[in-house]
Parts: sequence; C-alpha cells; structure tokens
Amino acid sequence: MAEQKKTRVLIVGSGPAGYTAGVYAARAMLEPVLVQGLEPGGQLTTTTEVENWPGDTEVQGPELMMRMEAHAKAVGCEVVHDIISSVDFSKRPFVCQSDSGTEYIADALILATGARAKWLGLESEEKYKGFGVSACATCDGFFYRGEEIVVVGGGNTAVEEALFLTNFASKVTLVHRRDELRAEKILQDRLFKNPKIETLWFHEVAEVYGNDTPLGVEGVKVKHTQTGEITEIPCKGFFVAIGHAPANELVKDVLETHMGGYVVTQPDSTATSIPGVFAAGDLTDHKYRQAITSAGMGCMAALEAERFLAEDESAPEVQAAE
Ligand code: FAD
Ligand code: NAP
Repeated sequence: MAEQKKTRVLIVGSGPAGYTAGVYAARAMLEPVLVQGLEPGGQLTTTTEVENWPGDTEVQGPELMMRMEAHAKAVGCEVVHDIISSVDFSKRPFVCQSDSGTEYIADALILATGARAKWLGLESEEKYKGFGVSACATCDGFFYRGEEIVVVGGGNTAVEEALFLTNFASKVTLVHRRDELRAEKILQDRLFKNPKIETLWFHEVAEVYGNDTPLGVEGVKVKHTQTGEITEIPCKGFFVAIGHAPANELVKDVLETHMGGYVVTQPDSTATSIPGVFAAGDLTDHKYRQAITSAGMGCMAALEAERFLAEDESAPEVQAAE
C-alpha cells in the first residue's frame, strides 16, 4: 500500500508564494507540508540579481529562495522533495498522488505551482533544445563564452537575460517583434547603454538552424514583421524569453481559468471555486507576476486556509466539489 502523509494544509510549490504560505501556516500551528516540485525555489532560482525584494537592495535569486526555505523550515513547515501528479478534488480530505508514490491527504490545499517559460513552438527550436536553444541564461549562459548569442523577447526577462549574457558572449542580438520594449525603464536604459548588445526591431524568429553531428545551433533566421524579408543571424546560443504560462496542469480541468490559463480566485481572496482549495502566486496572476505579489498571495492563502479550517471542524466528512 502507498505511504500516506496526512496534513491539515498541503502546499504545492516552493516559490515565494509557497514558502510564504509555509511560514504563515506553520506559525498558525497547522503543521503544513510543502511539496517542492521539479524546481525547488521556483523561477527566482533561474535568475541572478533581484533588486526589488524589499529589505535587500540586491540579492541573488537562488540565495533569496534558500533563505525562504530555511525560514519556512525553521518555523515548522515540513518541506518535501516530491512532485504532485494528480489531486482528487471531489471530496475532502483531498487525496494527492505524487511521483514518489506517497499519497498526501490534506484538509486544505494551497496551490502555488507558479509559471513556466513559454516557447515559440518551432520544430527547429524543439530540435536544438539543450543543444544551443535555452530559456535560462543563468543556467546555460556559461556555455557560450566568446560566442554570439540571440535572445528573443521584449519584456523584463528578455532584457535581463540579454544583459546577463554579455558576461559571456562576444555579442548579443535582442530580437523583438515591435519597436518598443515592455521591460522596466531602468532595465531598458542598461540595455541601450551596453555596447555588446544590438537590438533588432520588428523581427520574429522563423527558424533555428545548425548542425546535426554534433547537434548544435549555428544561427537563426529572422523575418521582418512588415516586409517579410528573411535575414540570417549567426549565433551559437539562442535564448527564448517570451514570457511565462501558468503551471495549471493539476487544476485546468477542475478550476475556472482565464487570460490564458490563470486560475480564477474570488475577488480580494485566494479562494477558488472549491471550498478548501486556495491558489496563490503566478498561477493566478496574469497582471503583476512578481516575487513580492506572489509572497503576498501566499500569506493570504495561509490566513484564509486557517480561517476555513477553524470554521469547518467537520472538514473530513464534508463533500467538497459537487
Ligand atoms: P514559482 O516561482 O513559479 O514557483 C512555482 C513552484 O511550483 C516551483 O517550486 C515548482 O517546482 C512548483 N511546482 C510546479 N508544479 C508542481 C507540482 N505538480 N508539484 C509540486 N510542485 C510543483 N520577480 C521579481 O519580483 N523580481 C525579479 O527580479 C524577478 N526576476 C525574474 C527573473 C526571471 C528570469 C524570471 C523567470 C522571473 C522573475 N521574476 C521576478 C518573477 C518571479 O520569479 C515570479 O513572479 C515568482 O517566482 C512567482 O512565484 P510563485 O511562488 O508563484 O511560483
Ligand atoms: P512578458 O512581460 O509577458 O513579456 C514577454 C515578451 O515576449 C513581450 O515583449 C512579448 O512581445 C514577447 N513575445 C511574446 N510572445 C512572443 C512570440 N511568440 N514571439 C516573439 N515575441 C513574443 O514576460 P517576461 O519578460 O517573462 O516577464 C514575466 C513577468 O515576470 C513580468 O510580470 C515581469 O515583470 C516579471 N519579471 C520581473 C523582473 C524584474 O522585476 N526585474 C524580471 C523578470 C521578469 P510584445 O511586447 O509584443 O507582447
């Protein structure tokens, strides 16, 4: 029989939302269990400097997340390295299956599964993933020392990745489909001042090309969005930074979603349409998608879970989702 782990509150996800929920739920004596998922620490572990976390003028993303984990553990949150593969939302307590085989049984659930990088969807992009195509500059930038790199995207991530990659590359070309970036002004200023970065406006990446033996990128073909003209840009590394989509696999058939898959919560609340299920962070947030807003929602979710459990002492017998 599968090993069972029972808890008042199961937190799914170990980004700022999950760990903040862990801190608050532990301090409410709920003895929460937090399942970390495939990416312990979440998205901030894929970046370097974080400059907008209050209290730290500058902090490395991975370090910040290690501190959050240590904080959650120190106040009594049990942190488990596992991945939740499915949840039975039809009755309470909720029964969650996991990759390790452990069955997690929880009176309340806080979903904080965050978001994941989007890809262009090109066949050639898929072919060279891990062989010159990447969505994480901090993970893979080091492989392109002295080489030319292309980054696609126009938001904060693309600009930060382009800047970071100048630590390794001889040249970085930022390809954007419009002539205006979405990124914060301060980041744009740094980008435009950097002599290693060239910005190519009004272009989309049409194809990644390269060698088969050994498998590796040699360049990208870009298409002018207005004239349709195709140009080749030689490069050894191609970084896709075109945004993130919510990691909603566990709930997309059960909970209402909107704006491209973000979980809908009640106004000014993290409560979902299923009593006892709360959602926090980038999973629900199509608008702000920041560490601090995710942490704030994690706090709200834990406080709301605590109130829900206090008001519903008969939780195990109640039918949750009709
Ligand atoms: P995430 O950080 O996305 O974490 C999701 C967690 O859920 C992960 O731990 C994952 O393993 C887990 N998970 C997913 N599925 C499962 C499952 N089935 N079972 C168990 N666990 C699961 N924001 C800022 O405020 N400042 C910045 O400087 C900044 N820089 C950024 C740089 C980059 C490159 C990126 C990509 C984002 C940046 N952001 C920044 C945005 C910030 O990282 C996110 O807003 C924030 O991490 C969202 O937190 P979260 O807790 O909702 O989810
Ligand atoms: P984003 O803000 O959604 O930007 C995505 C960019 O990619 C946009 O410029 C978009 O172009 C472009 N794009 C989307 N699909 C494309 C496609 N198919 N082909 C070509 N270009 C495409 O995403 P993000 O930059 O990853 O940021 C996500 C969130 O994390 C944001 O809320 C951001 O503020 C946050 N974040 C914060 C920081 C920080 O605070 N320092 C750092 C990183 C991320 P258009 O502009 O034309 O739509």
